[in-house]
Amino acid sequence: MLITQDNISQLAWDKMSGMIPAIIQHQDTGAVLMQGYMNVEALEQTLSSGLATFYSRAKQALWCKGETSGNFLKVSQVVTDCDQDSLLIACRPQGPTCHLGTESCFPEQNISQQNFLSQLEQVIASRKNDDPEDSYTAHLFSRGTTKIAQKVGEEGVEVALAAVAETKEDLLGECADLFYHTLVLLQDQNIDLSEVMAVLQSRHKKK
Ligand code: AMP
Ligand code: ZN
Ligand code: ZN
Ligand code: ZN
Repeated sequence: MLITQDNISQLAWDKMSGMIPAIIQHQDTGAVLMQGYMNVEALEQTLSSGLATFYSRAKQALWCKGETSGNFLKVSQVVTDCDQDSLLIACRPQGPTCHLGTESCFPEQNISQQNFLSQLEQVIASRKNDDPEDSYTAHLFSRGTTKIAQKVGEEGVEVALAAVAETKEDLLGECADLFYHTLVLLQDQNIDLSEVMAVLQSRHKKK
């Protein structure tokens, strides 16, 4: 069930002594970032402010994640589980979520390969204003749209050639080149990979 301001009371607060565990998941990669507890006030504030806010049992007070570090969690969606005693919250983190400095409080989790594209997208975005001498990605950005578009075209042709005339290893390498350069082009055009995924999903639904 999708949780909004209007159905908070339907959660199993009584069963859970007024506090429900909230699992924070990255909106794009699906990575689990952290887990905390929310009481009614924390959930209300989360929904009204759009920033994940917990009830700190240690401080016995509401705690907006990022209030001192600046690493806020912007909330995109709150859903509950089958028996309304647990929350799954999709967020866009504004920095590392763990207070130890890692992206997630569960740094050893195995993120699926499909979502690695989203991780790579984030790394590419972070290179946008780097020194072109230090990074090939920054070098590509500095050469501009026409050059990046040309690289995508070349890599597309290389994929096609590898498929008909080269080894599987060559094809894998060329596909990786194409995916990477396509991500750079999307970033250059200020387009999110999620927008492309939405187009794919909308086509899927029509069938
Ligand atoms: P912040 O909310 O990021 O401004 O951090 C404030 C304080 O909250 C930190 O010093 C930690 O004590 C605690 N804290 C921050 N992030 C986490 C987290 N992911 N899990 C548990 N405690 C945290
Ligand atoms: Zn449950
Ligand atoms: Zn942590
Ligand atoms: Zn290539």
